[in-house]
Amino acid sequence: MIKYIAYCRKSTDEKEKQVLSIESQIEELKEFATKEKLQIVCFLTESRTAKSLGRPVFEEVIQKIEKGEANAILSWHPDRLARNSVDGGKIVYLLDTGKFLDLKFPTFWFDNTPQGKFMLSIAFGQFKYYVDNLSENVKRGNRQKLRKGILPNKAPYGYLNEPRLRTIEVDSAKSKIVKKVFELFAEGESSIADISRFFQKFGITRYSGKMLHLDTVKRILTNKFYIGIINFGGEIYEGTQELFIPPELFGKVQKILEAREHPKPRRNSFTFLGLAKCAECGCSITAEVKHKCYPTTRGNVDYIYYRCTKKKTDCSQNYLQEELVEQQLRAIVEKASLPASWAKLWLERLDKEETKEKENGESQITRFSLEIQQIDQKLDRLLEGYLDQIVDPQIYQQKKNELVELKIKLKEKMTSISKNGSEWLGLMREFIELAAAAAKIARAKHNKLVAKLNL
Ligand SMILES: [Zn+2]
Repeated sequence: MIKYIAYCRKSTDEKEKQVLSIESQIEELKEFATKEKLQIVCFLTESRTAKSLGRPVFEEVIQKIEKGEANAILSWHPDRLARNSVDGGKIVYLLDTGKFLDLKFPTFWFDNTPQGKFMLSIAFGQFKYYVDNLSENVKRGNRQKLRKGILPNKAPYGYLNEPRLRTIEVDSAKSKIVKKVFELFAEGESSIADISRFFQKFGITRYSGKMLHLDTVKRILTNKFYIGIINFGGEIYEGTQELFIPPELFGKVQKILEAREHPKPRRNSFTFLGLAKCAECGCSITAEVKHKCYPTTRGNVDYIYYRCTKKKTDCSQNYLQEELVEQQLRAIVEKASLPASWAKLWLERLDKEETKEKENGESQITRFSLEIQQIDQKLDRLLEGYLDQIVDPQIYQQKKNELVELKIKLKEKMTSISKNGSEWLGLMREFIELAAAAAKIARAKHNKLVAKLNL
């Protein structure tokens, strides 16, 4: 007596319409069994791919058959049973050893004869070829996209995958939220958790509606995709996506993140620490808090003292109370300040320089675009060397990444020049404005303002 197990499978990744749903497979098999007068022991269903090993229900089928509870399988099509070489081989082997007496498929002819087994083996081989080919096609598609500078993945937050053109476009609403987040974080006052809450407030969350993981937020803030760099499988490509985060803003955010990863110790606990060395012996300055208690009047009061660490030699310097340190610093800042009339003259001079720079800028841009052309030529030669197998794959990838990064940096420089002229002008302007403000800061009443200067 031949007893059949009816096995139905459809995995979620099978998009082909010709694969029936599990319910329809059951219907078809029932009808087929009645027509062919087959005895079915049980129906087992599974929603897993047969491309890789490890299908628990399929294992159960094999076990039931090995235990003798059944000795044949009924399935809609052989590709429901196996799409990898191991499972296919197993089925043929069980037929060879007599554990399986029969296989039946409404859509595929099979007889337990040498001829039938031969046909089945070929069919299994075909499915494997189809699967391999599919993943090869995906890889080819990815390479093609990368060559065009398109990320072959889910679009990062603020972008969307355009389904028709298969490109990545700016999501007009979400990109505004992402940009706001970069701006917010660049102010330096928000934590990663604050940012995650901000995202949630504007509807960017996990699928469940919960706040984004902190790691996800960090990945967003450090994703170089926002400045035009695609990192795919460890290789770097030049993206062609439209950018909505200015590179300077992105750079600012990276600096804040780095500073938080490696906080300068104690800098925050004592305002003036790390600014000065002992004038007498050159040792570092340390600070400490002294508690004093005035039981009847002011209660507990903390006093901060700075002193020389005296690590090298005997040094005659004494403790200095924080207020006195501040006075000394104010005097220094006052000395470094720039009179307003001077500042005006300097800024005027700077304006003239700027006009001149603009003219120079154009020649700089020409130079940079020449350099970029040279890099492109190098990339071409590198690729040729790689294709001719003169260059190792590893070296090719490393060199290619270096060149592409260099190219992106040059392009960034070009845009920044055409937008704001040379960098030194901005730095100089900042310096003049700071020096002009120094007088005000030195006289300001607010305690510890000096520290805000980041001297
Ligand atoms: Zn000293």
